[in-house]
Amino acid sequence: MKVVIVGTGYVGLVTGACLAEVGTEVVCVDVDAEKIARLQNGILPIYEPGLQEIVVRNQQGGRLSFTTRLATALPGAEVVFIAVGTPPGEDGSADLQYVLQVASEVGALMDHYLVIVTKSTVPVGTAVHVNRAVKESLYTRGMIVDYDVASNPEFLKEGAAVNDFLKPDRIVVGVNTLRARQKLEQLYRPFLLNGHPILFMDIASAEMTKYAANAMLATRISYMNDIANLCGLVGADINQVRKGIGSDPRIGKHFLYPGIGYGGSCFPKDVKALIQTGREYGYRLRILDAVEAVNEDQKQLLFQKILRHFDGNVSNKKFAVWGLSFKPNTDDMREAPSLVLIRSLLDAGAMVSAYDPVAMKEAVIYLGSNITFADDMYQAAEDAVAVLLVTEWNMFRIPDWPRLKGLMRSPLLFDGRNIYDDVELVKMGFTYYGIGNTAAT
Ligand code: NAD
Repeated sequence: MKVVIVGTGYVGLVTGACLAEVGTEVVCVDVDAEKIARLQNGILPIYEPGLQEIVVRNQQGGRLSFTTRLATALPGAEVVFIAVGTPPGEDGSADLQYVLQVASEVGALMDHYLVIVTKSTVPVGTAVHVNRAVKESLYTRGMIVDYDVASNPEFLKEGAAVNDFLKPDRIVVGVNTLRARQKLEQLYRPFLLNGHPILFMDIASAEMTKYAANAMLATRISYMNDIANLCGLVGADINQVRKGIGSDPRIGKHFLYPGIGYGGSCFPKDVKALIQTGREYGYRLRILDAVEAVNEDQKQLLFQKILRHFDGNVSNKKFAVWGLSFKPNTDDMREAPSLVLIRSLLDAGAMVSAYDPVAMKEAVIYLGSNITFADDMYQAAEDAVAVLLVTEWNMFRIPDWPRLKGLMRSPLLFDGRNIYDDVELVKMGFTYYGIGNTAAT
């Protein structure tokens, strides 16, 4: 089967590479000519573990190619995926201009039956607009071509995207014809071995499933952050509480980690977009309003702790920031909590030296020359008054503590992800602040 994927970002590239990996012929299309030129030479625009090998292998095998021209990609294709961005508009709703632009372009070029699948995260009802855009383009050309629209939201996690795609917990597909269902069942058959399920449903439910999932995950984070903050006040330890509640199978142990707020390109925008969908239908999603409010406060938490420690004066003091990406194993800096923390420090007159194993190139775009980017985690800490652990990359988990202490101006640690043992650190002479434990006063 031949498939075209429009939008070659985190989702489109992983989808294209993984579909090619199981033998599908894939053409990835993007308007970004530089990105496509680099991909044609095997250079990836993003960091994602395991992706480089799959892209190059399938490119060399002739199953995966890249182009800026949808017109040359479409002949012979049976399925077109729309995987372009859906950034938040001014009111928080998902901006559908790129999705609808692609739908119009497909309608302007298609000459045979296609299943047009929205993989981008889009609000309920978008398939109706996609259908209209395709139809209008066909009408303008005076053409009648059969096609179906479908929804296939993506659940991959950045940092584990290849594994998530190849071994999905579930594949959700919204269709309204048998023909589209059969085509997508055929496409995904290689991924369904070993019991990975494909869930067919109506299109509106598929569109809603993606938002409901992300909003639920964001809710767990804000809930745990709220409880963690209370733990800090009452003298309880959120790490112990987390284990205590996570052992109940109705709650489950995953995704119960407090921290300095969720970020990234999905949770913030998807929570906002779902709230906005509710508004459009006259329904206020009160839980999600609170989830957002808690998250906004949580992104300030570490900075507030720092200010309190230094009696409000951080001017001309150097802080080492360990980790910049919104989570480990990705270079994605979109809505990263590190940006909020660093900007607050800079506004207060502090100096920042940061280290991240892969996200520094991306971080320059957001932070420019306002901070120093170090060559390694220890160089970042030289003469620093404190180390701020922001992203829990594995390499930060067991530092050489005596070396670190010797390099720093003062042995002070703010652990934004609760990865260190406060008792052990205090024994070694560090002052330690975490999230939601007795040390976090
Ligand atoms: P991205 O910004 O990394 O990639 C989008 C790509 O689309 C860009 O390369 C851009 O140049 C291209 N593009 C824009 N307009 C185009 C057009 N008219 N024709 C061709 N290409 C065009 O975005 P992403 O992170 O891959 O997200 C894409 C969608 O998938 C979003 O709706 C997002 O919410 C959703 N999603 C993302 C993730 C994730 O972890 N990043 C996970 C699940 C779902």
